[in-house]
Amino acid sequence: MHHGLQGRVLQIKGQKRLSAQDLPVGIDIKAFKNLKPVLPVGSSTKMDLPFTISEEMMSYNKDKNLLLWELALKYESARGNISEKEVLEKMRDIVRILEKSISDGIKGTQYMDRIYPAQAPAFKEKQTGNSFLNMGLYNDAILAVTALMDVKSSMGVIVAAPTAGSCGTLPGTCLGVATALNMTEDQKIKAMLAAGLIGVFIARMATFSAEIGGCQAETGSGSGMAAAGLVTLLDGSLDQCIAAASMALQNTFGLICDPVANRVEAPCLGKNVMMAGNALSAANMALVGFDHLIPLDEVIIAMHKVGQSLPCELRCTGKGGLAMTPTAKALEQKLTSQP
Ligand code: SF4
Repeated sequence: MHHGLQGRVLQIKGQKRLSAQDLPVGIDIKAFKNLKPVLPVGSSTKMDLPFTISEEMMSYNKDKNLLLWELALKYESARGNISEKEVLEKMRDIVRILEKSISDGIKGTQYMDRIYPAQAPAFKEKQTGNSFLNMGLYNDAILAVTALMDVKSSMGVIVAAPTAGSCGTLPGTCLGVATALNMTEDQKIKAMLAAGLIGVFIARMATFSAEIGGCQAETGSGSGMAAAGLVTLLDGSLDQCIAAASMALQNTFGLICDPVANRVEAPCLGKNVMMAGNALSAANMALVGFDHLIPLDEVIIAMHKVGQSLPCELRCTGKGGLAMTPTAKALEQKLTSQP
C-alpha cells in the first residue's frame, strides 16, 4: 500500500484469484470484482509454439523470409490462440499507454513518497538550450526513459517491459527515438513486437528477475530487446536484429542490483539510461555489419550463468553495493520512519 498526494495505491501480484485474506484490513474485496488479468496476451497449456529460442526461429524462417516483428506475430498468435491482427492491435494499445506515460512524465509528476523528484521536465527544458551535450538521438531516448521512470516512481501507469525497475530502457529508447524521427504508430508497434520476441528468448533461457540475475536480467535484458527494436525502426534485417540483441546483451554481464533504500529508483534511473545508450550503440554496430561473434542463444545462456554467479548481496537484497552506503542507509531510515 502506497500513500500519495492523489490517494492510495494498492499493488497486487499473484497467480491465483484474489481473496479477502490477500487484502489489507479495510479494503473491500467487492471493489476488485472486475479486476482483469494484466498480461495482454494470455497463454494456455495446450499451445503449439512455432519456436522458443532464436536458433529454432531461424530454422522456422528458412523458407519464409519473415522479419523479426512478423515472427513475433506468429509466436504471440500461437501463444495466445488469437489472430495476428489481434496481437497487432494489443501492441497498439500498449504503445498508446506508453506514449501517454512518456508525455505525462515530461509534463511532470508529483508524488510524496519517493527518493528522486521529477527529473524529466528539467531534461526537456535543457534539451532546447546550448548548455548541454548534444548527443542527438541518445538525448531523445534519455528524455523518454526518464519520463517513464518518473511516472513509475509516482505510481502512475507504466508497462513493466520487461520489469517495473527496468520499465524505461526498452520503451523509452524505442519510442523516444521513433518520435524524434517522426515515425508512424505502426513503425513503433513493429519495433516493440520485435523487441518483445527477444524478451521471449531471454525468458525461455534466462530470467528477468534481479533476485536471480542482478540488474543485467532487468535493464540488461531491456537493452538487448531495445537494440532489436531500434534495428527494426531503421528497416534492418532479421540477422541485424539478432546481432544487435546479441551485442547489447554481451555488454551487460555483471551488472549488479543494489537499490538504495529498497526503492526501485536509485541507481535504477541511471542504469536504465545507460542501457539505452548501450542499445543505441549495438543497433548502429549491427546496422553497419559488425560481427556479433557469439550467437544470441549462447549469449543468453552465458548471461544467465553470470547472473547466478553474482554474490547474493548484489542481487536485489539491499545488502551490497550502493544500498549499503551510509547515505543510502540514512535515506532508508528516513523513508521508513515517515508516516
Ligand atoms: S538496480 Fe535492481 S531494482 Fe534497480 S533497475 Fe536494476 S535490477 Fe531493478
